[in-house]
Amino acid sequence: MKLDDLPSDIRSEILPQHTGRLIYRCLGCGREFGIEELIYVCSDCGQVLLIHDLNFERLTKIAGTVWRRIFDYRKLLNIPALKGIYRYHEFIGPVIPLDAVVYLGEGHTPVVEANSFLQEKVGLQFYFKNDGQNPSASFKDRGMASALSYINAMVKKGKVSDVLAICASTGDTSASAALYASYLAPHIKSAVLLPHKKVTPQQLSQPLGSGARVFEIPGVFDDCMKVVEALSEDYNVALLNSKNAWRILGQESYCYEIAQDFEYEVSNMVVVVPIGNAGNITAVMSGFLKFLEAGVINGLPKILGVQSEHANPVYRYYLEPDSKKRKFKPLTVKPSVAQAAMIGNPVSMPRVIHLVEKYNQLAGSQRVFFVEVTEQAIMDWEITANRNGHIACTHGGEALAGLVEANHRGITAQNDIAVIKSTAHALKFAEFQEMYFEQQFPPEFNIKPDSDLINAPVYVQPKDLEHLPAPGKPLAGDDFKVFVRRVSDEIAGLLDLKKR
Ligand SMILES: *Cc1c(COP(=O)(O)O)cnc(C)c1O
Ligand SMILES: [Zn+2]
Repeated sequence: MKLDDLPSDIRSEILPQHTGRLIYRCLGCGREFGIEELIYVCSDCGQVLLIHDLNFERLTKIAGTVWRRIFDYRKLLNIPALKGIYRYHEFIGPVIPLDAVVYLGEGHTPVVEANSFLQEKVGLQFYFKNDGQNPSASFKDRGMASALSYINAMVKKGKVSDVLAICASTGDTSASAALYASYLAPHIKSAVLLPHKKVTPQQLSQPLGSGARVFEIPGVFDDCMKVVEALSEDYNVALLNSKNAWRILGQESYCYEIAQDFEYEVSNMVVVVPIGNAGNITAVMSGFLKFLEAGVINGLPKILGVQSEHANPVYRYYLEPDSKKRKFKPLTVKPSVAQAAMIGNPVSMPRVIHLVEKYNQLAGSQRVFFVEVTEQAIMDWEITANRNGHIACTHGGEALAGLVEANHRGITAQNDIAVIKSTAHALKFAEFQEMYFEQQFPPEFNIKPDSDLINAPVYVQPKDLEHLPAPGKPLAGDDFKVFVRRVSDEIAGLLDLKKR
């Protein structure tokens, strides 16, 4: 639809007018910094930063009903810059000119209701939101679209040139960073650091295919992160990890979409996310808070953060009920099928602590919860979901297992509606499904495949069949007829088919 075809009373609001006054604010000492420079931590106290809009107050003057119409009408337009995360421009990056927006098709991922069989098994109405259907097949594209649109805006203004974007990754951040940086070639180049043998072959192929410089480092993600931090302190590079507060802004789009997907009525919802470096849950809390403050929504949903018991520092932190006694302890992770979340020292932990308190306070009661799940539960639930029409990755399985755990513990109420984030596409983590089906899990995972869920291809080659087709050597005549007959009879036998 064309802008001119929209109702006249809303037309002037559709193209973003609001200019934010964005600043970085330190979570430790509160010091503020201008956004003209790409910085990641406070130069005074070393803490992480969040981006705030000093003009946010102005957004609260617009009625919630007007905001909802703005977002809903933007959906009808064919303006690429407003098709992705910047449909919510005023809340995500109100300093990014529309012509600097990098849009590669991210965001507005499908929300798919579970079938009645699965809902009954879980005991709650729930949906998957398939963030694996983003361009690089994970939700990381939301934050990367924001970070690279910002860098692009700086390049266009002539503030920076020849940027080398760099990140450490458990696989998906690097795939996304390399993809978005490659779109801005030759102005921007990228380099990624991966823990050797700790990303899947699909994840390794992605930055290679996008033309990034790829470095593999011994150890786990936490080790890579330290190297990247040292590089970004000493050298002139743009850090694309979620330490970069622009990533968080972009990832807020996930919850704005949930609000829009559910007609802005989210008070009875449970938003379930897996936690690794904790950028995702930070963004979800921050985004819902902003929508509440602006009156776009009228209440806050519950938020459920899920961790594997093999990588559970956030869960452990919140085990202590007395907030004054809580003390964060980084821990050494064990192998997890939720490999992208195998992080013992989450960069965004200070942001989580800050936002959980604010979220619960504004909600008037505890609305953010954390649970841990076993590796076994992650695999069983992933496969169960996918046998019922979903495309969940292991982290989607983790989130579903977390919802089941939350049900058992009474965190959810009967009438709650859950939205589970499948953070990546199932295909990225196919090797864990393969280990499950072939009963090949190394003992440290502690996973015993359920025989009802195992699946394997059956090779059909009827005995004493004399002639078989081969590539470049097709069968002909009677040989071919015999081959087709015998093979189809054998398959019919295996499937127990009845004759017509
Ligand atoms: C990055 C990632 C996570 C963890 O998200 P955080 O923001 O680091 O907590 C979970 N699942 C997948 C597939 C990821 O790529
Ligand atoms: Zn500070």
